[in-house]
Amino acid sequence: VIIFASHVNSFFKAYKPPVSVESQLVVDTSPYIKPLMQLLDEYESFGLILLDTHRARIYVVNHDKIETSKRLSKDIMNRHRKGGCSQARFQRLRRGAINAFFKEVSDAAEHLLSEVKRVVVAGPGTAKDEFIEYLTDDLKKRVVGKIDVDFDEKDVLPAAEETVIEDKKHSVLKKLDVFKKEVLRDGLAVYGVEETVAAARNGQINFLFVLKDLKIKGWICEHCQAVEPGETRNCPYCGKPTSEVDVIEEVIEFAERTDGEIVFVDDDTLKELGGIGGLLRFK
Ligand SMILES: [Zn+2]
Repeated sequence: VIIFASHVNSFFKAYKPPVSVESQLVVDTSPYIKPLMQLLDEYESFGLILLDTHRARIYVVNHDKIETSKRLSKDIMNRHRKGGCSQARFQRLRRGAINAFFKEVSDAAEHLLSEVKRVVVAGPGTAKDEFIEYLTDDLKKRVVGKIDVDFDEKDVLPAAEETVIEDKKHSVLKKLDVFKKEVLRDGLAVYGVEETVAAARNGQINFLFVLKDLKIKGWICEHCQAVEPGETRNCPYCGKPTSEVDVIEEVIEFAERTDGEIVFVDDDTLKELGGIGGLLRFK
């Protein structure tokens, strides 16, 4: 479990991570979030919509486990009923019922999948393509893959997870590529501890790249929020006493507070650049 507790603020919250974590105890003036951010980055929840023309299941999945799910179904006439309506009219009614069902599933998905970044749509035949057209633009953009399976297929989760992992790898590589280009042309990027700390404090970081498991011993001055690697008893800027910290943790906290996205990577170029860097929103 991961527990955040503060006696002063009467705060206690426990989380069960999807995998077991290394034991550690950290006392800090702010929640120590680095291991949790790395877990969230590694085991990202994703959405899965499994459907055909009259049944649907919507899932939020994290690492083989279903966190939430919803089932929907609709009676859709499949055969020509005797008497009453013509074949053409019957087909029109049936189509209308399917469209209404897709709309209903899309509304439910929008609600249930509001927190996930990636969505996979699975099911037999062309239903999934028709259905995707009913999604809002925002949700449509988050669809990273389609899987052709029977509605009753039990083993769709591993395939969906693989699709998500592949997409994620691809998007991290793309972002890293942009970052390296910006570094080369001295554009919207920073690297190395000093520059990255400064940019993170200024709220400039859009994407923060951190070498996996990187730790840099340093200090923070809670009074003026100065953070630097190394050791010092008193802050050189305001003279107040400092606390020992992991500089990387502090950068992550700064970036997180200003809505930066934290990306943990294994990359040789980033290693050479000091293990940490960021793509900036502005300069
Ligand atoms: Zn200070």
